[in-house]
Amino acid sequence: MSLGKRSRVDAMDSNKPIDVLVVGAGLSGLTAAVCLQAAGLRVRILEGAGSVGGRIKGISGIEQNTILADLGPTWVWPRWQPVVERWMGRLSLAQFPQYEAGDGILDGYGGPPRRYPLPGQDGIARIVGGPSALVQALAAQLDPDTIMTNARVVEIKATSAGIEVITADGALFEAAHLILAAPLRLIEEQICIAGLPPELLAALRATPTWMAQQAKAVALYDEPFWRGEDLSGRVASRTGPLMEVHDHTPASGDIGALFGFVGWDAAARLQDPKALRQTILDQRVRCFGPRAEKPMQLVIQDWAQEPLTCSAADLREPPLHPDIGPAILRQPHLDGRLWFAVSESADISPGLIEGALSAGEMAAQRLLVRI
Ligand SMILES: Cc1cc2nc3c(=O)[nH]c(=O)nc-3n(C[C@H](O)[C@H](O)[C@H](O)COP(=O)(O)OP(=O)(O)OC[C@H]3O[C@@H](n4cnc5c(N)ncnc54)[C@H](O)[C@@H]3O)c2cc1C
Repeated sequence: MSLGKRSRVDAMDSNKPIDVLVVGAGLSGLTAAVCLQAAGLRVRILEGAGSVGGRIKGISGIEQNTILADLGPTWVWPRWQPVVERWMGRLSLAQFPQYEAGDGILDGYGGPPRRYPLPGQDGIARIVGGPSALVQALAAQLDPDTIMTNARVVEIKATSAGIEVITADGALFEAAHLILAAPLRLIEEQICIAGLPPELLAALRATPTWMAQQAKAVALYDEPFWRGEDLSGRVASRTGPLMEVHDHTPASGDIGALFGFVGWDAAARLQDPKALRQTILDQRVRCFGPRAEKPMQLVIQDWAQEPLTCSAADLREPPLHPDIGPAILRQPHLDGRLWFAVSESADISPGLIEGALSAGEMAAQRLLVRI
């Protein structure tokens, strides 16, 4: 693909060039952009999807900007996650505890499902408005027109003046620096980048994208009826299709919600989505009784089918939590012009929300000390 023949896209104000292009408007990319703009740099984010948030996604309520339930991440552990705690404070976001009062249910442990006091997790919490509130609050801090959606990046090239980036529709963007805030395996598989060292390409390939193969099933009810029966909403199942279920009622308590992780693999989910839906409802009734049969909504979010999240390598391999990756993921490349900032590149809590916030702010800080 020749860069010279592409149409040039002017910066937000054509008289002032962009300092930093950020690829990806997930939590990492938004955090990096907020930090860089706060330092006075001109930043543009190119996001391949039609909306921001990446793996953070929710079921919207009727009122503007309200999220009833999360289809991606749910939990934070602010007591153990200083970066999460700091950003929640900075963005004035509130937390509330994961509901865990009452008995859990053991399903598939011999005989019919039965009550069991399943232990909770110390410090596990939820954000009021869900992790989507983090995304909304960060995006609101950016200058207008910073984010360009439907701009999937396919090629990157260093030049004597900086860096050139081409999107799938052939638009060319230029900047002095670039932060790649997309899943590392997707970058390696889908973006053509000349001049990267083999050990970096190997590190990108070797880093699994946390939860990329998973599917989450969320059911909304008019109220959290299980709480009245002294049930926590928690299920531990050996039979599935949901291997674990948790109370997912929003902080307002206006409705009830349960979410679970689907135990069927990606191919089986794709093969028979109708059967999956029915089997999930059957399991809900088996565990919670007839009131669980007709949720107001049952949404199954299959992340394995999201082309800007799940790579071919993620589908081939068993799901693994990323370890802290090699230092090469946090170093500059292409003569100091290219940086990575996605949760899996972080050196604390890689794969998690805390990792994403940390990756975004650390990439911004490392870049700022070099310019
Ligand atoms: C089902 C599920 C449950 C989870 N549960 C939790 C939890 O409870 N707690 C927790 O801490 N974490 C959890 N996580 C992980 C958490 O969601 C991630 O760590 C975090 O959202 C990653 O943010 P990110 O910005 O680093 O990456 P992403 O959210 O993946 O953002 C990358 C962005 O890059 C864009 N992009 C990709 N390719 C291109 C391209 N070529 N051009 C332009 N844009 C591109 C994508 O569209 C996306 O917007 C969960 C994830 C999932 C899927």
